[in-house]
Amino acid sequence: RRVAAADSVVVIGLGRFGTALALELMAQGTEVLGIDDDPAIVQSLNGHLTQVVRADATSEAALRQLSVPDFDRAVVAIGIDVEASLLATSLLLRFGIEHVWAKALTTPHGEILAQLGVPHVVYPEAEMGRRLAHLVRGSMKDYV
Ligand code: ATP
Repeated sequence: RRVAAADSVVVIGLGRFGTALALELMAQGTEVLGIDDDPAIVQSLNGHLTQVVRADATSEAALRQLSVPDFDRAVVAIGIDVEASLLATSLLLRFGIEHVWAKALTTPHGEILAQLGVPHVVYPEAEMGRRLAHLVRGSMKDYV
């Protein structure tokens, strides 16, 4: 089944972060097109996302073939491969996708994404670390 682009999200990079995001979107009733270039990952998510495809997200032709330019929400969840993250993100911006989120592992990576014009740069590890500090402080109150 193909994803209707309206009211659906494209998730590029289905590592731990992208997979968790995509599955949660599905659980909440949002249609998801997942893209990853690792065939094992694509295979393991087959049937769990509306559509999951093996493709190189740095290829403009591949993204066009998947109708990615028709989406208005996209998340780039590639972290380690900064070059792939930047190339994929720049294509999404060039397509004019209105809502683009991109994950950064380091501050320089995030700053370049922001310079490209990404409206929402997320730092999952730094943000989760800060959240956990609040949770840890909160739970401490029960013991002191
Ligand atoms: P996580 O922490 O979420 O597991 P990560 O930060 O380790 O992820 P990466 O390993 O860089 O991030 O990438 C996440 C996913 O993106 C991987 O499954 C990888 O196969 C995929 N990926 C990397 N480059 C590309 C690309 N050019 N096209 C499509 N998918 C890609």
